[in-house]
Amino acid sequence: MLIDATELTNGDSVEADLCIVGAGAVGIAMALEFDGSNKKVVVLESGGFELEPRTQSLYKGTHVGRPTYPLDRNRLRFFGGTTNHWAGHCRPFDDFDFSVRDWIPHSGWPIQFNDVEPYIERTQQILELGKYDYDSLEEYASQLGFKTLPLDSSRLISVMKHQSPPTRFNTAYRKQMKDSENISVFLHSNVLELLTNESASHITGADVACIDGPRYKVRAKQFVLATGGLENPRIMLLSNSTAPNGLGNSRGVVGRYYTDHILIRPALDISLSRTDLDFRLYTDLHEINGGLMFGIMTAAEELTRKEKLTRFRFHLYNLPPRYDVPVGGVFSAIDEAPEVSPLSKEPGSHIQVHMAMEPIPNPDTFVRLSSTDTDLFGQRKLEVNWQVSDAELANAHRAVEICALEFARMGFGRAYSPLLENPHQWPSTFTSGKHHCGTTRMSDSPDTGVVDSNCKVFDIDNLYVTGSSVFPTIGHTNPTLNLIALSLRLADHLKEKL
Ligand SMILES: Cc1cc2nc3c(=O)[nH]c(=O)nc-3n(C[C@H](O)[C@H](O)[C@H](O)COP(=O)(O)OP(=O)(O)OC[C@H]3O[C@@H](n4cnc5c(N)ncnc54)[C@H](O)[C@@H]3O)c2cc1C
Repeated sequence: MLIDATELTNGDSVEADLCIVGAGAVGIAMALEFDGSNKKVVVLESGGFELEPRTQSLYKGTHVGRPTYPLDRNRLRFFGGTTNHWAGHCRPFDDFDFSVRDWIPHSGWPIQFNDVEPYIERTQQILELGKYDYDSLEEYASQLGFKTLPLDSSRLISVMKHQSPPTRFNTAYRKQMKDSENISVFLHSNVLELLTNESASHITGADVACIDGPRYKVRAKQFVLATGGLENPRIMLLSNSTAPNGLGNSRGVVGRYYTDHILIRPALDISLSRTDLDFRLYTDLHEINGGLMFGIMTAAEELTRKEKLTRFRFHLYNLPPRYDVPVGGVFSAIDEAPEVSPLSKEPGSHIQVHMAMEPIPNPDTFVRLSSTDTDLFGQRKLEVNWQVSDAELANAHRAVEICALEFARMGFGRAYSPLLENPHQWPSTFTSGKHHCGTTRMSDSPDTGVVDSNCKVFDIDNLYVTGSSVFPTIGHTNPTLNLIALSLRLADHLKEKL
């Protein structure tokens, strides 16, 4: 059922078994797990079916650290959430991503890949990705008449990514939500605060408001916050009537450890020394097993451990060189490619390499409430303090160097990157991934996390948080497939609880 909450009456009260806040990728995927059951599910969504400027303005905030994309541009506040403009690249985390890596402070999840893996097949369907198979790149390459790059597999390996069409949850799942008899989506419903008992250990309701419309309450047995990696902590911090520091925040962890992928696009321009090279396995999309896939490169686990690096991946693009510079000499000692100076702009004479790198979790990068700026409900806006460290710069430099050396070793050409010339400065092509993570991180201790291994907020018996905000570390891969799989696991847990 779809209900426009502007048609409710001020002071109304809605009852449910389960209340999910947010109808983005997570909120919709989770709610549909209950479709046809005997549980009454209410989904509260801030927006309608299209972008409405006043609703979108509720996402405004400021960067108080390193500036990146404006906060009201890199997420969307209406039905379907940010999937209304996501790109659709998908790959599951590996085992390795969940492990404690003793050279990365605060690494290690309280769950393992095995805990999430049973939900990936179903997530593949939700995201229209085709069969769950990320292991057969070689086989698919030969079926398609391509070859993977002859990489030294102790250093770099080729792996597969799947490509969603990309699924727009707004249109793909609106009808099923509308037709459901036990799921009610309340549109134009902004959750201003979650209300609690006196000791702030139990959620008693949600205080919900429409812009220029009624204000009403939702009461439910269980509550799930699914409003994205920045808004999840904001709602927890704004819910401070009984807990002055915000919900689940007695130890001050909510909003800390904010993190995002470090992107350098391009990280390298490769001037090719051969004309017979075919990168289409990596640069183009290929139909296979009812879905689309392409190849990327990443570091072998062995190398990552040996050199104590974070994880990184490289995408190849058939794009003209970004850096208009001579490339002679950068790898002259090992590179037998003929001198090409400046980079040739002829099609097929070069390839661009884009890098996405895993950051190092840091409690001092954070999101918090502004002390001065408020939104149109009078609620404090977000301030985001994103920082990158010298250790991350050194990690990025080494990752780029490894890739450049590998292209030289294969005899494919010469590489240029400003990072190779000046390892002490981030290149101008450095940015963030628009993947907001870590702000309500999962941990086995409330001293270092906000939610436990079931995504339940420590010390609150009926509040769950899900999405990329619970990721303690983020690997090199994109978040959405992983955060949906984790949320389907939460849906199973809640089915048992209810
Ligand atoms: C340009 C771009 C490209 C991307 N490309 C990729 C990609 O290729 N691969 C990938 O894996 N990921 C990608 N992402 C990230 C992806 O979009 C997110 O991981 C995903 O949308 C997160 O889902 P979510 O449900 O947690 O949040 P969202 O999809 O953002 O949904 C949150 C929902 O909560 C609602 N909401 C917020 N506050 C409130 C409130 N107070 N009350 C009620 N409702 C509220 C919002 O309106 C929204 O509908 C991309 C992101 C961007 C910006």
